[in-house]
Amino acid sequence: MKVVHDLRGVGENLQDHMDMFLIYDLTGPHSYDKYKKLHNQALAGLEYALFRSGPVASNICEGGLLWYGDEHDPLPNLQYHFLPGAGVEEGADQAPSGNGLTLNVYQTRPRSRGTVRLKSGDPAAAPLVDPNYLSDPYDAEVLAEGVRIGQETLAQNALSKFVRAPYRPGKILATKEERIRFVRETGQGALHPSGACRMGVDAMSVVDPTFRVHGIEGLRVADTSIMPKLVSGNTNAPSMMLGERLAHFIKTNARSAATPSATVDLGRYRGEKVES
Ligand SMILES: Cc1cc2nc3c(=O)[nH]c(=O)nc-3n(C[C@H](O)[C@H](O)[C@H](O)COP(=O)(O)OP(=O)(O)OC[C@H]3O[C@@H](n4cnc5c(N)ncnc54)[C@H](O)[C@@H]3O)c2cc1C
Repeated sequence: MKVVHDLRGVGENLQDHMDMFLIYDLTGPHSYDKYKKLHNQALAGLEYALFRSGPVASNICEGGLLWYGDEHDPLPNLQYHFLPGAGVEEGADQAPSGNGLTLNVYQTRPRSRGTVRLKSGDPAAAPLVDPNYLSDPYDAEVLAEGVRIGQETLAQNALSKFVRAPYRPGKILATKEERIRFVRETGQGALHPSGACRMGVDAMSVVDPTFRVHGIEGLRVADTSIMPKLVSGNTNAPSMMLGERLAHFIKTNARSAATPSATVDLGRYRGEKVES
């Protein structure tokens, strides 16, 4: 297949959040796990049908927290989700007693970078995706600190009275080494792959600040792949925002004057009116 335009940055700069699951076994049916039983499901269904409330109206991720896994970082670099249930996501374990809870933690701004490469010249062939998680040791350290803070949080009186025992990991991890091992053995992608067609004006960028692919007329990209850096949170709403922004650029026929070797005043693109 003939190469139309060789952009070296395509497929570089892949980033994803790495997700850790801390799972706890509970002393009784305190969490949504009790709704795995059919009669409780029926009652929950009835409650929702009648009052539009109850567990069916929950998104399961009922609590969230942004916190610091590195005291030198001025911004929170850990995100937690509290889920009153266990085994609620693909690949996550159930609690042994059937009643559990999950605390998810991920690092918001990982330093590790992966790649997306072509396997062959066949455009229908699946690409080679290498997230390269934890290739920067800093990421494992921040996540290990996230595990430590998570375990400390679950040990507080307000929660510990509902907890029979930690299940995954099966004990309080006392040392940094143990926590890093846990991160490396059990961490999984948070399904926020981003950055492999990053926006910018340097030679390794793929799209310009108006989302146009450098060097190809009439082609724009608007999805998580154009993020130069992952956002410090989940990616769904930011992806929708990118789509909205693209619609605005197309409607106003916006064109960035920037080329891969030039600098650009990003402030120019923040206003509603963008010159074509
Ligand atoms: C299981 C899962 C759970 C998630 N949970 C959350 C969450 O709770 N909160 C959150 O904020 N984010 C969540 N995310 C992440 C979020 O969904 C994504 O970051 C976001 O949808 C990415 O948007 P996108 O436009 O980049 O890609 P996508 O949403 O993947 O859109 C790509 C689109 O392109 C289409 N497409 C692909 N190939 C072609 C082709 N050849 N021709 C035409 N169309 C094509 C696809 O069908 C798809 O519609 C989750 C992701 C997954 C996978």
